Amino acid sequence: MRNNPYENFLKFMHKAASIMGLEPNEYLALEYPERELKVYIPLKMDDGRINVFEGYRVQHSTLRGPGKGGIRYHQNVEINDIRALAAMMTFKCAIVNIPYGGAKGGLTVNPRELSMGELERLTRKYTTAIMPFIGPEKDIPAPDVGSNSQVMDWIMDTYSANKGYPVYGVVTGKDIDVGGSLGRNEATGRGVTIIAIRTLQTLNQDIKGKRVAIQGMGNVGSITANFLHQSGAKIIAVSDVSGGIYSEKGIDIPDVLNYLDKGRNLLEGYKGDFVRITNSELLECDCDILIPAALENQITEKNADKIKAGIIIEAANGPTSEEADAILNSKNVLVVPDILANAGGVVVSYLEWVQNLQGLLWDEDEVNDRLRKIMSKAFDEVYQNAMEYKCNMRNGAYALALKRLLAAAQKRGVHA
Ligand code: GLU
Repeated sequence: MRNNPYENFLKFMHKAASIMGLEPNEYLALEYPERELKVYIPLKMDDGRINVFEGYRVQHSTLRGPGKGGIRYHQNVEINDIRALAAMMTFKCAIVNIPYGGAKGGLTVNPRELSMGELERLTRKYTTAIMPFIGPEKDIPAPDVGSNSQVMDWIMDTYSANKGYPVYGVVTGKDIDVGGSLGRNEATGRGVTIIAIRTLQTLNQDIKGKRVAIQGMGNVGSITANFLHQSGAKIIAVSDVSGGIYSEKGIDIPDVLNYLDKGRNLLEGYKGDFVRITNSELLECDCDILIPAALENQITEKNADKIKAGIIIEAANGPTSEEADAILNSKNVLVVPDILANAGGVVVSYLEWVQNLQGLLWDEDEVNDRLRKIMSKAFDEVYQNAMEYKCNMRNGAYALALKRLLAAAQKRGVHA
């Protein structure tokens, strides 16, 4: 049985609640999602066969605003993944203090196995299926693993066609031509880089020359690699689903990215001066900073003890199990948690939505300045909470979010 990511989320929340001295009654409502939708989508494939795909949209909380969170296209997606990811969005949005709750959606599908036509039809049918539950003031989807701006554009178009007028604010992460924001595509990786640099500053260290290993070369991993490389870090290992590459001298990141950008290329086809490693070897390699930027549950009680990095920046959602987190803590590894480290994506989603609702078009500097301010403030507030409760950054992050969520619950009276 695979580790249940929702259980993992609950353990992290309970840990913070106990450090804060909260009564179970105070946070009981947050243990449950507000609403869960399951849909079955019959799709005519290009060859005429019919396949039925399973999909979800979970709204964990609308305490602080409409539901917000990505849509994941992955063959292993189950309700507990989406439930956990939705709950993490609630906490993430509270940490960066943007007026959203938390939600997540997903389809159990390997998008690499679909033609573009199949992917478009599936996305449009999924949008129609979840249509009564989403909207600019209800729940606003965005990209996640396996989906991208093209998928968001189809969602916007399908929703708008049903309404009879263009509704840009129903989804974020769209292409610039259809209401997307400058800077949104790079936002998560830019945010991870801001957080990595701030973490080092807190330790009186410099990013220059730091040896970094990054698991995952999707949107988040590849853009983080690029920004960290530009900031002077030495990226010594990267990986994707096909495996990883390692070079003590440092990997030629622009060249790797150039190769991966072409079509559906994977690292296994990339040639150069490096050693091939597996994904588990990457996690355990000798580096200063480890950045898991792929899927959940990568650092577990099986490998946590073998990790050599002194700092872990969680660019993926839920990469570390609670058992592994305790081991890393006992080894004094500084873990900057997902709900802070990867919040740059939803922050610029928020900026996109604000522009859509107001009919504004900000230039990229304006977006990036706002992102930098919001991320830096969130880092400092998480750090202050970690100091206040004498705990690690993860517990500090959960504590900050709990304070904000419970304040909203108390004022609204929703627990009455
Ligand atoms: N999927 C991203 C995340 O996990 C972005 C969500 C959003 O922009 O709404 O944070």
